[in-house]
Amino acid sequence: MELETPKNSLLYRDFESHPAAVVKCGRGIYLETEDGRTILDATSGAAVACLGYDNREVQTAVARQLMDLSYCHPGFYKAKVAEDLASFLVNSTHGLMSKAILCGSGSEAVEVAVKLAKTYFTHLRSPQPERTHFIARTGAWHGATLGALTLGDFKGRKDPFVDLIPQMASRVSACSTYRGLREGESEEAYVRRLAQELDDEFQKIGPHKVCAFVAETVGGSASGCAIPVPGYFPAMKAICAKYGALLILDEVMCGMGRTGTLHAWEQESIVPDIQTIGKGLGSGYGAISAVLVNANLINSLKASGKLFAHGQTYMAHPLAAAAALRVQQIIQEENLVANVCKMGDYLGQRLKSRLSSHPFVGDIRGRGLFWAIEFVVDKHSKKPFPTSLGINGKMHTRGMKKGYEIALFNANGTYDGYAGDHFLVCPPYIVTEAEVDDIVERVSRVIKDTFAGIVEPILKGQGLS
Ligand code: PMP
Repeated sequence: MELETPKNSLLYRDFESHPAAVVKCGRGIYLETEDGRTILDATSGAAVACLGYDNREVQTAVARQLMDLSYCHPGFYKAKVAEDLASFLVNSTHGLMSKAILCGSGSEAVEVAVKLAKTYFTHLRSPQPERTHFIARTGAWHGATLGALTLGDFKGRKDPFVDLIPQMASRVSACSTYRGLREGESEEAYVRRLAQELDDEFQKIGPHKVCAFVAETVGGSASGCAIPVPGYFPAMKAICAKYGALLILDEVMCGMGRTGTLHAWEQESIVPDIQTIGKGLGSGYGAISAVLVNANLINSLKASGKLFAHGQTYMAHPLAAAAALRVQQIIQEENLVANVCKMGDYLGQRLKSRLSSHPFVGDIRGRGLFWAIEFVVDKHSKKPFPTSLGINGKMHTRGMKKGYEIALFNANGTYDGYAGDHFLVCPPYIVTEAEVDDIVERVSRVIKDTFAGIVEPILKGQGLS
């Protein structure tokens, strides 16, 4: 007897079945589903597919690499293409970062960054092994592995594992003009207040125990494109320097051109000690991330003559490295970061002019092709919707329906009320003006129809509006 082919075998969050659409193929910035829908991907997956889904040159580079060398153990050898990619990345920082470690995901990169920071202090000429504490921020997301979870602030993902995760981090407020800046407060005063808060946290923990301050340069999925105010990062870095701790910038989401410069820190007048990158690095053509390490740290580590006790089977994978190298070359050759700036400005203007007056749109913020729309019950109080309403889930579901067909990166308001429901609009770097118009049109309809059809009646029933 022949067995029926099982359906719904891929386990994701739902133990019963994966509720999402089955995607057959990707063309440009569109995804085609098995049931005949063509979805405009306004989120590049999750700020990943910066070149869209069918770049012929990247496909060819990966295929060639596959024929030449499919795998190479990173502990025994160095794949040429991995070395080429690392050199490209180091050059992209004008040598400020002098080494790259290639990993397979953003979470891994964060784990490596944490371990490397610890290693730096362990191997100093006068070792400081007691530096084992990390100060992270509210509304942060740094990944799903245990170490990365502990740095993050996403309760829904963290709480189920709280007994397992290392207790190595505490938290200070992130920089958020919308939720953090007080009425009448200048940006300078806000920066001073945040710097004082970080200073106080160092004092509370004991400055000699702090290994690093960890932050997303531009807050991503959990905080919704929270742009630092001018002077914020220099002030944070000065506090780190005052106490001899490191600055780790997580650019897994906001880096590699997404916010209008290849590295998001280039707009902040600082250079991190350690930086993580991911998503846009390989544009999804390979599972790849990286940790870039400041020349000062490397010099100190080199002088110690010690090793970095870390290794994983799929580090510096040749296929992923070939994909990322070609992706990065294309971004450079075609000057796509300039398109990010141009189309990003246009997208921001269009979203604002179309949606700012919507009664439930609290904020529209972003930089480059990295925008978020945050929803609130009341614009004045900025009160978020109850998470039980699942506003963002509803937006996402509607977006995927026939007649809308737009993919939105939904992040709901489960972040301790740090940010309400919001979704990200972060299309591929190759997006055109006409496509931006189409995105804004579809996004506006999704928001309008979701509130009118589903949420407004609930709000009235609950006396929330
Ligand atoms: N850091 C940041 C800033 C991220 O946005 C993410 C993913 N959204 C991660 C780390 C984790 O990356 P990954 O999902 O590839 O493990």
